Amino acid sequence: MKVLVGLGSCGIAAGGNKVLQVLEEEVKNSGINLEIKKVGCIGLCYLEPIVEVIDGEGKKTTYVRVTPEVMKGIFKEHILNNKVVENNVISGEDIEYLTGQKRIALRNCGIINPESIDEYIESGGYKALEKVLKDMSPERVIEEMKISGLRGRGGAGFPTWFKWNAARQAPGSPKYVVCNADEGDPGAFMDRSILEGDPHSVIEGMAIAGYAIGAEQGYIYVRAEYPLAIKRLQIALKQAKEKGFLGKNLFGTDFSFEIKIKAGAGAFVCGEETALIASLEGERGMPRLKPPFPAQKGYLGKPTNINNVETFANVPWIILNGGSAFAKIGTEKSKGTKVFALAGKIKKGGLVEVPMGISLREVIFNIGGGIKGDRKIKAVQLGGPSGGCIPEALLDTPVDYESIVKTGAIMGSGGMIVMDETTCMVDMARYFLAFTQKESCGKCTHCRIGTKRMLEILERITSGNGKEGDIEKLEELALNVKEGSLCGLGQTAPNPVLTTLKYFRDEYEAHIYDKK
Ligand code: SF4
Repeated sequence: MKVLVGLGSCGIAAGGNKVLQVLEEEVKNSGINLEIKKVGCIGLCYLEPIVEVIDGEGKKTTYVRVTPEVMKGIFKEHILNNKVVENNVISGEDIEYLTGQKRIALRNCGIINPESIDEYIESGGYKALEKVLKDMSPERVIEEMKISGLRGRGGAGFPTWFKWNAARQAPGSPKYVVCNADEGDPGAFMDRSILEGDPHSVIEGMAIAGYAIGAEQGYIYVRAEYPLAIKRLQIALKQAKEKGFLGKNLFGTDFSFEIKIKAGAGAFVCGEETALIASLEGERGMPRLKPPFPAQKGYLGKPTNINNVETFANVPWIILNGGSAFAKIGTEKSKGTKVFALAGKIKKGGLVEVPMGISLREVIFNIGGGIKGDRKIKAVQLGGPSGGCIPEALLDTPVDYESIVKTGAIMGSGGMIVMDETTCMVDMARYFLAFTQKESCGKCTHCRIGTKRMLEILERITSGNGKEGDIEKLEELALNVKEGSLCGLGQTAPNPVLTTLKYFRDEYEAHIYDKK
């Protein structure tokens, strides 16, 4: 028999460590031999702390909302006497939360111990790296990525193979691989969960990218506000080195690869790749003009490939299962799956991975269980402060890069914040703009001053002091900020305002003219 205890940040925040402590004490006092596995988040964040008991025949019982008291009961009844404690067993509806998903990037999260490289290896880990080093040329690896159709999961959706190929073809050496783990959107926790739950998948994906582009050094730029992710990455890197999956002459070949961690200092703009590079170089994290693109002139002026956490986590699966297996999932232009963090007024807040092409309505209602308190849904904000809101009428929009852009929003990195009928959309736009305005690095006038002026207007409107002409001025400023900004932060900062103006203009007007 073995027992899995969910100890991602969500599990720990809900009291998972206390549950673990009780379990360990009971095991010690009883003197029985029991395997206890500490695992990452399985995605059911709204049901944490979660404990899974797997008996000798492999039958799994999932217990949810486990308190220390409940854990004592599970130990006494189930672990010692093989009697299931029905009260806290997961319900069928909550099981559907998992069965409605297709898990590739999250394949090991909540299942293996992220601090055990042996468990990662047992689940097929580092086999993809072995395969590329022994059987595939770098060009063949890039070709496989092209077949897969994988596009960058950080938000822009640029084809991964194209970036790898550009970095491979670019003259100059050494070359670098960088993992962008500077997840900063309010409401987003996809990358954090992957790093906490399955850090080796990201390390393996980076090593494969290194081989493909001809790099021997990788960096993981991870926000310092993710201490658990950093700790698990440090452990994983040490283990990978000890086992010979990082370091010199991997698998007896002439390919060597090392990875270092750089903890970011919390600036949202450092998620923009050129700002990230500046920060990595020890400079203030400010975006740089493109071109040259990082593939040509990136870290220390050398060819650099940057992908985000989820993108790298997909890579080993693609190599082992084939690009065409990945391409079979999803839509014509958006292949594979996408991880979303469900947050806001949704009943089942947590992490989901769904095939591209599924509708937003299916994600929110079939998987996420609909709206808390059975209120009506009003809109969903995709892509955090850089994204836009999609109204209820457009919830049948499929999750794919092109369809989402047509609504005025963007796919973003995966934050999905659901709003119900009580949400004021103007206040929501003000909240997101206040965030981006504060995070503007100040380099360009439109972003620095424009977002400030926009915020002033929004504050005026939401405090009941809006006046005639404010909406038009806000719209004009928003378009100018989009046009005149250097980097993605400024270019997308007006999106929440523009999309709410497009779909909820009446709420702006009600604030100004009806003084609501
Ligand atoms: Fe900085 Fe904003 Fe200009 Fe980006 S758009 S470089 S964040 S001032």
